[in-house]
Amino acid sequence: MSSHIIRIESRSAVLHLNKHNAEEAISIGPVVWTQAKMHRLAFSAARGLPLKVHCSFSSAGYSTIGARGPGVHFAVRRRSRRAHLPRMEIVLEEEVDPGAVAGTDLRVLRYPHPLLRAPNAEFEKSELAGEARKLAKEMLLVMYASKGVGLAAPQVGVNKRLMVFNVEGDSKAWVHETVLVNPRIIATSKASDVEPEACLSFPGMSGAVRRREWVKVEAYKLNGKKFKVKYEGWKARVFQHEYDHLDGVLYIDRLEEEDQPEVQQRLSELTEEYMANMYKGQEPAL
Ligand SMILES: [Zn+2]
Repeated sequence: MSSHIIRIESRSAVLHLNKHNAEEAISIGPVVWTQAKMHRLAFSAARGLPLKVHCSFSSAGYSTIGARGPGVHFAVRRRSRRAHLPRMEIVLEEEVDPGAVAGTDLRVLRYPHPLLRAPNAEFEKSELAGEARKLAKEMLLVMYASKGVGLAAPQVGVNKRLMVFNVEGDSKAWVHETVLVNPRIIATSKASDVEPEACLSFPGMSGAVRRREWVKVEAYKLNGKKFKVKYEGWKARVFQHEYDHLDGVLYIDRLEEEDQPEVQQRLSELTEEYMANMYKGQEPAL
């Protein structure tokens, strides 16, 4: 999963919104904030970028809803009356196609590569120390180089049930690095929410997807230990996105209906690029 072409973070406040200044239109690059009943942020696609939004707010009680193609609008909804307006930093970051990544031959496969839809096998315990560990290490290299926050093995052409993620998207924040082998969902919340997502296998687009608010997961670590964990919020979303990849499910399969027409053109472009590259890779016919 890729995250932050526009990243809104709580760690430092470039934008510090409160009820006194929220009505001012604040412009940072192509960002405009106005206050309506719903707090609405409007992003114009100033650089022709498809806009992707990841929000994590310092104050609980806010969620983002929806993101709309180029000229993106998304809303920040106050979930609780008592929620304080959040501190936000808005950073424009482009998704990166890193090409060759030092330390690995792995590359991110793009839609519509057929391996993204192929079945994925579980790892045997005997494979964890060798094959799985090497794969996870190299996938993390590719993920960071691509400015991603999560990557599933089929995305690098390995049809095995392994995923890596780091919701901070930063190799320096290595404590957040997670490797899950043969994960299984054992429980989920009934509640769900809709937020924008993007995927390294679909560069240049994003769309809103409904996900469970929390999931309980059972998985193996690379050391062979089985463990259970509960993910909530953004982590739960990243996990569910990557977990889908292990079942050959892609986020375009789950797009909210209103976002489906907007991505069609980009999907056609990706298909054309894929076909063109396939032909380029072929020996000239004799
Ligand atoms: Zn993905």
